[in-house]
Amino acid sequence: MPSPLGHGLAALAAGWAAAGVHAGTHDRARQVAILVAIGIAPDLDLLINRHSMESHSIGAAALVAGLAAWQRWPVASSRPAIGLAVALAWLSHPLLDALGSDTSAPFGVMAFWPFSGAHVHTGWDVFGPISRRYWLDNFWTINATSIAREVVILAPIAAAAWFFRRRPAA
Ligand SMILES: [Zn+2]
Repeated sequence: MPSPLGHGLAALAAGWAAAGVHAGTHDRARQVAILVAIGIAPDLDLLINRHSMESHSIGAAALVAGLAAWQRWPVASSRPAIGLAVALAWLSHPLLDALGSDTSAPFGVMAFWPFSGAHVHTGWDVFGPISRRYWLDNFWTINATSIAREVVILAPIAAAAWFFRRRPAA
């Protein structure tokens, strides 16, 4: 599982690609805050000991996207665009987890819940491991290396999404 920083960057890239970058400074800040929060939110499942399960799935993405479109979360201007941006931002999370190094079983994410409870993982280790074992000596070196790798891979993708989807100043 990548770090919250990696997940935030990926969610921004997905949300911006889907809905475009909001024009006004205030709207843009709210859009960024919401998209980043959506990118990180699936890992709140750590708190209830159901890590990488239902929250890391297309089912969860659809539920949150439906709620966002209904409540008109300010990430896009129309309900379909809000739903699409939120769904893709949420899905970017299990996608990154499935592409990243996973060091604890069950490996991967329950990506196709509720249709399947199987855990999916590519085994590609595109992203390095993130350690939550803060009491170990190698905690900082492992995580600093992995976070640097996430930024190198994901920051250009987020920057490209921003560049191509930003609206011209009216
Ligand atoms: Zn996760």
